[in-house]
Amino acid sequence: MTPHSRRRFLALSATLAASGVALPLFAAEGARVLYVQALGKALPDAEVSLVVQALQAFYAVEVKTLGRVELPKVAYYPKRARYRAEKLLEFLGPRLPKGGSRILGLTSVDISTTKGKIDDWGILGLATLDGAACVLSSFRCKRQAKNAAHARIRFAKVAVHEIGHTFGLEHCPTRGCLMEDGGGSVLTTDREYDLCADSRRLLTERGVELAGGEIPWPKPKLK
Ligand SMILES: [Zn+2]
Ligand SMILES: [Zn+2]
Repeated sequence: MTPHSRRRFLALSATLAASGVALPLFAAEGARVLYVQALGKALPDAEVSLVVQALQAFYAVEVKTLGRVELPKVAYYPKRARYRAEKLLEFLGPRLPKGGSRILGLTSVDISTTKGKIDDWGILGLATLDGAACVLSSFRCKRQAKNAAHARIRFAKVAVHEIGHTFGLEHCPTRGCLMEDGGGSVLTTDREYDLCADSRRLLTERGVELAGGEIPWPKPKLK
């Protein structure tokens, strides 16, 4: 692959290299539709709803929910009894309806990918930088969560983060920004609230319009 066609995978816990072609951002009229695809039966509808609400609060896109589908068997990793995130991205990419901009897969099963020397590393989410697809799992959002609502908020924050990657954003050094690198832990999301001014500027420069809607979670008390 030539350097210009390199595409990167970014996870909350991992940065990986892969090949592909960058997508134009909102180049065509009507391309602002973002699709949400629930994978598997176990994910509660309330988790899907908060993700949709969060995406619409941040990004000036139309969010459509696709009919729920089963997890693809090809992505299952029996050795660890979890699903490989990059295989889920391969599954999701072609499911993006014609004219759509991005597709976000949501699941409650644990997902993993290869990180450096670690063959199978559990993650919150995985996205292709400037790519069409991202996937996130609520599995790790439940860790040390106070209750279901807390886990749901974490999940929706990860959705804003992963879609940010598909819009070309890399991790942000600003503490408390939604594009912060989770470093493999969901606990980082608890100090996050909004996209910082730098991340917002980068999105605007890339032609991504922000919605400026009401953020559907409370402002964390920063220590
Ligand atoms: Zn990330
Ligand atoms: Zn930021």
